[in-house]
Amino acid sequence: MADVLTPEQRRKCMSRIRSRNTRPEIIIRKFLFAHGFRFRINVKRLPGTPDIVLRKYKTVIFVNGCFWHGHEGCRYFRLPKSNVDFWKNKIERNKERDLQERIKLRDMGWHVIQFWECQLKPSVRNENLNGLLCTLNHLFLENFAVYRTVPYGKAGKDLNLIAAETEVEYKKNKPLKNQNN
Ligand SMILES: [Zn+2]
Repeated sequence: MADVLTPEQRRKCMSRIRSRNTRPEIIIRKFLFAHGFRFRINVKRLPGTPDIVLRKYKTVIFVNGCFWHGHEGCRYFRLPKSNVDFWKNKIERNKERDLQERIKLRDMGWHVIQFWECQLKPSVRNENLNGLLCTLNHLFLENFAVYRTVPYGKAGKDLNLIAAETEVEYKKNKPLKNQNN
């Protein structure tokens, strides 16, 4: 189907897809920063130019508009009434590209979190942002925590439980009260 927009209108229209510093992105950035996370934004050398990159967590976050990225089952995703085929194709292509970028990132060892615009509506925002915190903490503990905090009493003599500590470090850190046991 022919494009009904002039090239100029089309260009403006398309440029919005990749627009940066959108309000949803800023909400997440402020939230993460306030909780002590440090990150880089719009990292061009990674596939898909992730909106937020948390290197320490080996995690990237995409903040997606529900329309442009075709959020399935979302009430904010409605195809325009005219040019339905055009929009359908366009959004399918966006979704396919999103998928390929995610696959590339995962192959590179990144965790990919996709945040939808609708998840930041005021009524659900806190819940979803707190969910994001949990996810990040979980990822960190699962994959990157060098010193696992195992209560010494429970660890006993099983040094394997202190995942990455050498025996010397383990003894040095051992609380005094346990040394006479
Ligand atoms: Zn949505």
